[in-house]
Amino acid sequence: MSRRFDVAELIDGVRGGDRVALARSITLVESRKPEHRKLARQMLRELAGSSGNSIRLGLSGVPGAGKSTFTDALGCRLIDQGHRVAVLAVDPSSSVSGGSVLGDRTRMGILSQSDDAFIRPSPTGLHLGGVARATREAMLLVEAAGYDVVIVETVGVGQSEVAVAGMVDTYLVLMLARSGDQLQGIKKGILELAHVIAVNKADGENAAEARVTARDLSIAMKLVSSQANERRVPVLTCSALEKSGLDEVWQAVLDHRVHLEKTYGLAKYRGAQQVSWMWSQTEAAVLDSLHGTREMRELAHRMEEAVDSGETSALDASSELLRVFAAQVPSLDWAQPD
Ligand code: GDP
Repeated sequence: MSRRFDVAELIDGVRGGDRVALARSITLVESRKPEHRKLARQMLRELAGSSGNSIRLGLSGVPGAGKSTFTDALGCRLIDQGHRVAVLAVDPSSSVSGGSVLGDRTRMGILSQSDDAFIRPSPTGLHLGGVARATREAMLLVEAAGYDVVIVETVGVGQSEVAVAGMVDTYLVLMLARSGDQLQGIKKGILELAHVIAVNKADGENAAEARVTARDLSIAMKLVSSQANERRVPVLTCSALEKSGLDEVWQAVLDHRVHLEKTYGLAKYRGAQQVSWMWSQTEAAVLDSLHGTREMRELAHRMEEAVDSGETSALDASSELLRVFAAQVPSLDWAQPD
C-alpha cells in the first residue's frame, strides 16, 4: 500500500533539501496513475522557480565503458570543490532485464556515501517515453533541492541517447580504445550528439592505445560535424580508475557551456529543448488516444482487414479512422501519456 502524497509537505521537504522527501517526490513523478500525475504537475509547477540552476550533464557509453567508475570519481571531485551532485539514469531496458544497472548506488561506492550526492537509478516499468519524462521531472526536483550538478547516465544504444541529449546542456560520451566502438558510434549517430568525448581506461598498457583512439576519433569527428564553422568536439583521454584526466574532461564540459552561452545562449538552448519536448508530449498523447478506446481499436482492426484485402483503399480507411477519432476527441481525457 502506498501512502498518500502530501504535495505541500513534499515541496517543503524538497526545498529544504530533505533526501527522503526528494526520493518520495521522484517516486511521485515516476507514477503513471492519473491522480499522481495531477499531483506531480502541481508540485512541479510550484517548484518551477527553484529549478534550472544546475549544470546538466549527459553521460553515455556502452556497458563497461566505465560510466559508474567515472561518475564516482568525478562526482567526488566536484563535491570536494563545493558542488552538490545528483546522478539520474535513463535505461528503459532496466524494466525488462535489470538492464545495465545504471545509477546503481553500489557501483558508485564512494559517491553514494556523501551527503552532497544523490543517486537515483532508472525508473522501472516504463518504456522510454515514460522514463524520459520521469527523468526530466526528477531533474527539476533535484535542482529544486539544491543539487547544482546533475549527471544523467545512459547506455550507448538507441533512442535513449537522443532522449538524454534533449534534456541536458552538455553531452559527454565515454569511449574505449580497441573496441571498434568509435566507428559503431559514428554509424549510430551517437557521436553526432556528443559535445565532449573522452576515451576512458587510458592507463597501464592501454594508455598508448587510448591516445591513438582519441586521435583517430578527433579526425573522424571533423567529418561528422555538419557545419564548417562549428566548434571542434574535444576528444580527450582519461582514467576513471586512476582518476587522471578528469579535471580536463570537466574543464571541457565547462568550456562547452561557455561556448553555448556565447553562441546560442543557454536559456535559448533549454527553451528549444522545451519546445521539442512540448511537441513530443503532445504527439504522444494524440497517438495514445488514437488507439485508446475500444471503439477505435475495433475500427482499426476492421480497417486493417479491409485495406489488406483490397476492399477499401488506404486513404478511405484513414479518413474513416480520423472521422471516428475526431468525433471522440471532445470526450477524451488528455492525461499525460507515458
Ligand atoms: P559502466 O558499465 O559503463 O558503468 O562501467 P563500470 O564503471 O562499471 O566499469 C566497468 C569495468 O571497467 C569495471 O571493472 C571498472 O573497474 C573498469 N574500469 C572503469 N574505469 C576504468 C579505467 O579508467 N581504467 C581501467 N583500467 N578500468 C576501468
